[in-house]
Amino acid sequence: MKQGRTISGCMAALLLGGCAQYGAGAEIGAAPEPTLCAIELIVLGAGQDAGAPQIGNPQDPAWADPALRLTPTSIALVDHLDGHRYLFEATPRITQQMNLLDTLAPGTGDGLGLSGVFLTHAHIGHYAGLIYLGREAAGASDVPVYAMPRMADYLRSNGPWGQLVDLENIRITALEDRTPQALSSTIRVTPYRVPHRDEYSETVGFVIETGSKSALFIPDIDSWDEWEADFDLRLEDLLEQVDFAFIDATFYDDHELPGRDMTLIPHPRVAATMERLENQPTDIRSRVQFIHYNHTNPVRFTDSEETQGVYERGFHIARAGDRHCLDVRRERR
Ligand SMILES: [Zn+2]
Ligand SMILES: [Zn+2]
Repeated sequence: MKQGRTISGCMAALLLGGCAQYGAGAEIGAAPEPTLCAIELIVLGAGQDAGAPQIGNPQDPAWADPALRLTPTSIALVDHLDGHRYLFEATPRITQQMNLLDTLAPGTGDGLGLSGVFLTHAHIGHYAGLIYLGREAAGASDVPVYAMPRMADYLRSNGPWGQLVDLENIRITALEDRTPQALSSTIRVTPYRVPHRDEYSETVGFVIETGSKSALFIPDIDSWDEWEADFDLRLEDLLEQVDFAFIDATFYDDHELPGRDMTLIPHPRVAATMERLENQPTDIRSRVQFIHYNHTNPVRFTDSEETQGVYERGFHIARAGDRHCLDVRRERR
């Protein structure tokens, strides 16, 4: 049964182009050797918790142009060989984001086709979408939800989340800081605590590893320096260890919120993170994928001066629909 699903999952992805788009050039004269992406990350949303346009912002150009709309940050991990799909974050726009995932990498199982949901923390953009797994919407059955201990307790003991547990729409697995969670023989996910305002839960980032490549996911953090001071972890060290780094880009700089003293608002600014990393080799800088941008952040627009500047300095900006292969397999015809 599992073997059958394995083949159909990857073949479906190949037919849809999902597995095949990462092909390197074939050798001249050699038989074509299709490249399959066995495990990939798909960006489902790259905005801050409230996305864009936001409530009470009738001037936002995204009201008139749906192409400018942002959903909150979420990425999917898709194992095409085993037919497993995992979400990182359950955002308030999970309905649209699951539809994007179903379009790019259709599920192979029953129901939602979700093998798990990893949560970073209890701020609305990161977990509130769990409500759509409940009886009023998907009526999901036993979807594994991976969360840190305080976050797990918060979900179990507060409505409406507790009802999802009681009705077995979700099944919570408590994670431990810096302890890998094995999802298969090749995939593991490790949470790392980060400094953030932790009213209801801890906040973590994740390192996602496959047999060949890895990714760092830190959508929310107060400061890279505090991370080093409080948790003894340096952004530069993590960047050396991973192939992709989806990191907090909430604000571009300190001029973004007119009338507000932004020195009082945490989050590393995109401009400051780029300055911090400017002496890193090109290869290291190119691993950065800025994500979780606020509706006020000019990098949300693909044609802004700031977006162009980010690319000129060797960094990237994550966009919904981006796909990154974490494990390539080649198969002869
Ligand atoms: Zn957030
Ligand atoms: Zn947050």
